[in-house]
Amino acid sequence: MKCIHCKNTTSKVIDSRFNPATNSIRRRRECLKCGKRFTTYETVELVPLFVVKSDGRREPYDINKIRTGVVKSFVKRPISMSQIDELVARIDNDITKSVISEIRSSDIGEKVMDELKKLDEIAYIRYACVYRNFKDVTNLLRYLKDDLDTTIDDDSQSKSTAIVAKKSTPTKKESAKKPTKTTTKAVKKSSKSTNNKRKK
Ligand SMILES: [Zn+2]
Repeated sequence: MKCIHCKNTTSKVIDSRFNPATNSIRRRRECLKCGKRFTTYETVELVPLFVVKSDGRREPYDINKIRTGVVKSFVKRPISMSQIDELVARIDNDITKSVISEIRSSDIGEKVMDELKKLDEIAYIRYACVYRNFKDVTNLLRYLKDDLDTTIDDDSQSKSTAIVAKKSTPTKKESAKKPTKTTTKAVKKSSKSTNNKRKK
């Protein structure tokens, strides 16, 4: 795509919207040389991209559907619309850059979650709740715990060591505070007296 201002050929996509009526994608681009913005309309003709749903149904790829889910996840979060637009554009770029004719909806879901996790963890959890369709809180917590553990494994060794150290600290404190037999008796006595007082 040539920049209409300076003819430079490199630009980044900052917003993408699919128009089902014209089967075209409107892309807002920013020139990497002069920084000015321009819009392109790309028509999908030769290789229409289809999304394969979990039940096997196919439907035309529509970036607006992804956008709707993403925007919902960011309700009342301190993230600007332009940040959301950039995120959606990144997902769209990632999906459409490869020459494929169909993509599984689960693959799209994973891509969306990867991007959300980088930008805002609350939005990520909201999206995951809808996408994973957790039956209850226990399932959600288990998923997040597994996910967190994976993230720690992916991180540098020093980080996970720091977390292990943090985890072990309260255990040491607990053992240090472990009451002796005398203290336990004293506590029991005092609690009994408190009970008696309450009864009176
Ligand atoms: Zn330019």
